[in-house]
Amino acid sequence: MRFLILSDLHANWEALVAVLGDAKRHDYQAILCLGDVVGYGPSPNEVTTWVRTHADVVVRGNHDKACCGLTSCETFGTAAQYSSYWTLGALTDENKEWLRNLPRGPVQVENLDLVHGAPDDEDRYMFHEHEAATGMHHAREQVTFFGHTHVQGCFVAEPCRRGFDIRRLDALPVTLAVNWNRRYLLNPGAVGQPRDGDPRAAYCIFDSSSYVAEFHRVEYDIRTVQDKILAAELPKELAFRLASGE
Ligand code: ZN
Repeated sequence: MRFLILSDLHANWEALVAVLGDAKRHDYQAILCLGDVVGYGPSPNEVTTWVRTHADVVVRGNHDKACCGLTSCETFGTAAQYSSYWTLGALTDENKEWLRNLPRGPVQVENLDLVHGAPDDEDRYMFHEHEAATGMHHAREQVTFFGHTHVQGCFVAEPCRRGFDIRRLDALPVTLAVNWNRRYLLNPGAVGQPRDGDPRAAYCIFDSSSYVAEFHRVEYDIRTVQDKILAAELPKELAFRLASGE
């Protein structure tokens, strides 16, 4: 089966539309979502309704929990807190209810595991090798997809005498073939708010029979999203950061 894997959409409708347009050429059969459907962005209902109707499996993200009132956003930075309250007010009851009922990761789909943050903690970040090592230790499958960092990338673990050596791939290939004796933590990157220096929307295609992951980026109309953020009187920095991809 070929999967389209999306993460951190963050209520960015224009980025989602661009990703779907680009992904059409990859002939996928199912859509998996790693959470943070909402938060930060100006189109929470459009994006939530789309994911609710089209995604086959969705795990919840920390922003999904905060924006539907399931958890407090006290630990968030100022802009994230403000946008959580704004989103809570903007979401329809139906969309809020759907977000409240999203499962916590990891959720297994075929031979893959899906988490928002890390296999051991849905809210934990895995930016660096030492953070990924703990995640790798808890991973149940050879391939786990994660999001949360908004950084497209791959951690790979190779067996060694001490257990395994883990490293982050600095130059991410477009096409990554899974090696039978290694373990992987793969991040498709953020659809709606990339933070890896590349402002283009990110997504991944994974073929569960050939064990090949493809990492993609696509340009979208950032200006329109920025205008919507400013018109909604969301914090200006949320508009600016989309252009820098930071
Ligand atoms: Zn996020």
